[in-house]
Amino acid sequence: MPSLITHDYFGREFLSRNQETSQWSADQKDAYLLGNQGPDPFFYAIITPRFYHYTGIGSLLHAQKPTGFLVAFSHACKKQSGTNHLIAEAYLHGFLGHYLLDRTVHPFVYSQENTFCSAGIEGLTEDDHSEVHATIEREFDEMVCYQKYGLTVKEFRPHQDILRASDTVLRLISRIYIEAIFQTYHRVVPYDLFEKSVHNFRLVQRLFYSPQGIKRKALAYLEKCMRNHSFYASMSHLAIPRTTCDFANDDHQSWVNPFTNECHNESFWDLFEQAQESAKELKPLYSLPEITPDEARVITQGLNFSGEEVEV
Ligand SMILES: [Zn+2]
Repeated sequence: MPSLITHDYFGREFLSRNQETSQWSADQKDAYLLGNQGPDPFFYAIITPRFYHYTGIGSLLHAQKPTGFLVAFSHACKKQSGTNHLIAEAYLHGFLGHYLLDRTVHPFVYSQENTFCSAGIEGLTEDDHSEVHATIEREFDEMVCYQKYGLTVKEFRPHQDILRASDTVLRLISRIYIEAIFQTYHRVVPYDLFEKSVHNFRLVQRLFYSPQGIKRKALAYLEKCMRNHSFYASMSHLAIPRTTCDFANDDHQSWVNPFTNECHNESFWDLFEQAQESAKELKPLYSLPEITPDEARVITQGLNFSGEEVEV
């Protein structure tokens, strides 16, 4: 997902506002920030041929049984002892940050995506949802990066500055995922599915890294020979000093949540703040040694990562 800078910033911002990391080890901090990427690394399982049967795991986690998964994950974390327990817990806190930001901002992204794809804009059709979605989230990333760090991807390198966790930490989190995925979805996944997927995620970010735009232009040209639009071009961050973007809705135009049909007028930053507030309010619940089904339900409200109610 191109939204990795935004998710990472969300985690860093939560830490700085809630001042709780002073005692944390480097591994805990890395695990927490990796947790802020949520299940997104699983999307990159696709580039490992032996994971052919597991490429849908990332979508499954985003779409189904959010409450059950949270309970199972927390249960698996609790079983760890000593340092591993602290690292697993930090990862879970970060994971919840990803979940809360995803579920709060996704209806806003979908709403704009639907509007663009159905507006009859020349060259854009209902087949272009994934490119439009990626473009919107990529522009958020560029805006967050410049507005908050004063940097473009020329200086801020997502493949180096984000997704940092040692192989030992990755192995631990992989084991927890195996158990939580089995408990929740009754799927047995390879022992290194998560670990390898994070490596793949780093690799793809390196491939997509094109601050001068030369690689982006060349690959987009080749891709456009075969398809309508270039997915590569929509995913690869531009080195643009953006203080805002066309999709941020700073002027509070109305938009419709596609899942509830309710009308809203929040901007990107309003939603970002809402998610920060939720993470703060819910902290007493997710900081318990183990999250019960009732507590998990209070956290999720039955909403998946898209913000769609899936547990009626
Ligand atoms: Zn996600």
